[in-house]
Amino acid sequence: MPNPESPEPDYERLAEEFGTPLFVYDAQVVERSHAALAGALPDGVDIMYSLKANPNISLCALLGSLGAGAEVSSHAELVTALRAGIAPEDVIFLGPGKSTGELEACVDAGIAALVCESLDEVERLDALVGRRGSAPFPVMLRVNPSFTARGQGLAMGGKPRQFGIDEVAVRDAKRRLGDLTGVRVVGIHAYMGTRFLDHTSVVRNTERILGLAESLAADLGVSLDAVDFGGGLGVAYFAHENDPDMAGLGRGMREAVADFRSRNPHCRLMMESGRYLTAASGTYVVRVREVKESMGELFAVADGGTNHHMAAVGVGSFAKRNFPVRRLGATEGADTREYSVTGPLCTPNDLVAKKVPLPEVRAGDLLGIGRSGAYGPTASPGLFLSHGYPAEVLVDRGRAHLVRLPDTTEDLLGRQRLVRIR
Ligand SMILES: *Cc1c(COP(=O)(O)O)cnc(C)c1O
Repeated sequence: MPNPESPEPDYERLAEEFGTPLFVYDAQVVERSHAALAGALPDGVDIMYSLKANPNISLCALLGSLGAGAEVSSHAELVTALRAGIAPEDVIFLGPGKSTGELEACVDAGIAALVCESLDEVERLDALVGRRGSAPFPVMLRVNPSFTARGQGLAMGGKPRQFGIDEVAVRDAKRRLGDLTGVRVVGIHAYMGTRFLDHTSVVRNTERILGLAESLAADLGVSLDAVDFGGGLGVAYFAHENDPDMAGLGRGMREAVADFRSRNPHCRLMMESGRYLTAASGTYVVRVREVKESMGELFAVADGGTNHHMAAVGVGSFAKRNFPVRRLGATEGADTREYSVTGPLCTPNDLVAKKVPLPEVRAGDLLGIGRSGAYGPTASPGLFLSHGYPAEVLVDRGRAHLVRLPDTTEDLLGRQRLVRIR
């Protein structure tokens, strides 16, 4: 979306300076996305940035400087958030299959809470804290609610999942949890899915999770100090979609939270967001190596493809083609033809965009895949065919900062050991 106050990055110049393929993140768009979400949330709801969507440390630092906390799910993500300057009190760690090293790192760092995905995990943490003799560690229980969310791509809740603890099992856990001295259950977490475009789904999920949290805390006999009601707010990618109505979200969230807030004035509320905060800020810039015609169809073969942008293929069933694609530098209103945009991989699945109308494309032209700031390299098979991961650039008011170097052949081979066994 053009914005007169912050002109678009000069992609041609960036491509020359940093090479392609290249991810370009626009800091002003990150700021606008953060402001839109913060503006829609009632006072006292903390935004927790889900590093999963884009773990670039500079992007994370930018969001931290805007006031976001962090939701992390691996040791590297934890270290990223802390080095980016996010205070440990504003970091939570969740995810199935946590290692002992990860649990220890969370205790060492003194993060806000470990979000436990099973009662076994709570007991593992309890034992670990006991061995160390440190103070009881704050734990939030991730609940797999009995209800499900509707109206989005990837639904959680109401079905068997490896995530969280089934609601009924939480209700039965008072005795088991009551025996533990190394942990302190401080709250409830639930995450209902991703890519919600209809704000009413997010509002409804929030209401239900807040209600669930109160009733579970009562059953467990613990005080409710924190509730994380997930998030999963989407952005429009495809022609028939619209961005969420943030004014509607604001009205709905204020209502959803008000009663809960009056009963729980000191409870910390958290909403997680990855995609909404970063997707719109990113453009994947590739250079066309050649244009070829096969049986009447045109292919723009570029220097980068799904090795850096798997989401463009359609992850599972929930992303449909096509991401917004432009020929960068093309004048508006030029005649278009249909092109399929492909990359350098030897698989027919390396199809970034299928039959998109573009102004005439020639070898050497730059194409930009828009809305690519979330689930790009982090969710892509960057090692496929050993191309490695690309450079990333953060542009702030016209100034470009290289925030990730591209992998080199030596980077890739340096991790291997040549052992001649014959
Ligand atoms: C993936 C994930 C998120 C981030 O989801 P977005 O749709 O990118 O905002 C947040 N919380 C949990 C538990 C997740 O698994």
